[in-house]
Amino acid sequence: MFSKLKGRICVNATRYVKQRYLHAGPQFTKDSYEVQRGPYRSLNEGHLNYFRDLLGETNLIQDLSDLEKYNVDFYKHLRGKSNLVLRPRTTTEVSKILSFCNANLLAVCTQGGHTGVCGGATPIFDEIILSTELMNKIVHLDEISGVLTCGAGCVLQNLNDYLSEFDLMMPIDLGAKGSCHIGGNVATNAGGIRLIRYGNLHGNVLGLEVVKANGEVLDCLNTLKKDNTGFHLKNTFIGSEGCLGFITKVAIQCAPKPKSIQLAFLGAQNFDKILMAFRKAKHDLGEIVSAIEVMDHKTMEMVEQHTPMSSPIGHYPFYLIIETSGSDEVHDQEKLGRYFEGCMAKHFILNGVTVSSPSQREKLWHIREKIAESFYKDGYVLMYDVTLPLEHYYDIVAEMENYLGNRSHRVFGFGHLGDGNLHLQISLKEFSQEMINYIEPYLYKRVKELKGSISAEHGIGFLKKQYLPMVQSNVNVALMRDMKKLLDPNCILNPYKVI
Ligand SMILES: Cc1cc2nc3c(=O)[nH]c(=O)nc-3n(C[C@H](O)[C@H](O)[C@H](O)COP(=O)(O)OP(=O)(O)OC[C@H]3O[C@@H](n4cnc5c(N)ncnc54)[C@H](O)[C@@H]3O)c2cc1C
Repeated sequence: MFSKLKGRICVNATRYVKQRYLHAGPQFTKDSYEVQRGPYRSLNEGHLNYFRDLLGETNLIQDLSDLEKYNVDFYKHLRGKSNLVLRPRTTTEVSKILSFCNANLLAVCTQGGHTGVCGGATPIFDEIILSTELMNKIVHLDEISGVLTCGAGCVLQNLNDYLSEFDLMMPIDLGAKGSCHIGGNVATNAGGIRLIRYGNLHGNVLGLEVVKANGEVLDCLNTLKKDNTGFHLKNTFIGSEGCLGFITKVAIQCAPKPKSIQLAFLGAQNFDKILMAFRKAKHDLGEIVSAIEVMDHKTMEMVEQHTPMSSPIGHYPFYLIIETSGSDEVHDQEKLGRYFEGCMAKHFILNGVTVSSPSQREKLWHIREKIAESFYKDGYVLMYDVTLPLEHYYDIVAEMENYLGNRSHRVFGFGHLGDGNLHLQISLKEFSQEMINYIEPYLYKRVKELKGSISAEHGIGFLKKQYLPMVQSNVNVALMRDMKKLLDPNCILNPYKVI
């Protein structure tokens, strides 16, 4: 069957957060994970007066109900006890805040859109939350080179909307685009669905402005493609998860907006066939491939159970979503059509649809993007974000299912197949530390044995901190510690996270 549909939608994380607050919230992280508070000072009236004078009363958040969304993470696993959110507008304000916090030994939790899934942006105790919320101005767009310079608090979706007028787009796209900030994306070295085409942020981010823990401003806000003058300092902060400095501005290479986008939604008999269809896509579609996503039937069942969405092609053990972006609609449609027919002829796929209109694409992408919304309705879901060599990509899902037997409600997998990035999800009836202790050491040991990574794109944050020494050598961890000591000797930035 070779039919055409239409569509596309972005997940607005804020909406989900609001819904989630209707449920009972999580316990304090410090209690559920038994964390000891570091030797930091507690906030007093003198500190508050300093911040009020600097930012003005309206840019301090102290009201308990207003603090809730800053203290509880997106998936409601973690809860901090912060009494204060600071919302600076300028680099100078950030610099003064950090210099003051450093001198007064006040711990700081750096926060962007608060969509991170490893607990990096959620305070553990009473850290002051330093938010990029109001640092959301476009600084400059070079329409010819496509380099955008903007404040770290710009929401990813807003940047795309702005760039669209200039026939440009961001080189990164993720389900949380309606809420995540570009500063948060850089701090987590976020991946997302377009990484296969545009590469990761180490390549696309050309420059950064960063405020160090002592308040000094590091100007690496380069907008050049090539600049080998000394060490590449900005790379230190890409993926540093708020532990080494506070990113205030980002210069990023944007991509031309494609004139033609096609989408194929395909069903396959087993994962080997998915790999064959994947290989063929890389060969046949080559330079126009912009996303290759996979999901198993359990993921689809969950989406169908918890949302009004359903598979457009009936039910199959595995689904493959392939997006192409190019400049010639006729050429791209023909290419995708030939690919589709080739896959059908070789039985790599059993069925599928290809679509080209924006509304049809939106509808199909919506299924992929609804996964996050549906799994939090599926009980208590443990999310694991691993990279695995493709030959082992799906084995781990089956292995974990066997390992857990009837102790879990559902074990399922989906992810960015194009980058070897699997999101392994385990849903439990309720939170159980005992189950986490049963699952994580085993899973991470296996991922290491299979020569994978325990964090493909989400980072280490708070939740994976204890496993860092298991997957990085002593020498590597020691160098990370040395870098932390050098850049943040009083350890005021994001304590209890990463190392
Ligand atoms: C529905 C959904 C889908 C997602 N899909 C993807 C995906 O496909 N790919 C992917 O990689 N991630 C994904 N994520 C995870 C998350 O959206 C990303 O990690 C994102 O980059 C976080 O951005 P943020 O602004 O929300 O950062 P936050 O959550 O606020 O912060 C994340 C980390 O960065 C630090 N940080 C934030 N801002 C700054 C700053 N200005 N300076 C220094 N440190 C800072 C924080 O301290 C924290 O450690 C998804 C999350 C959700 C909820």
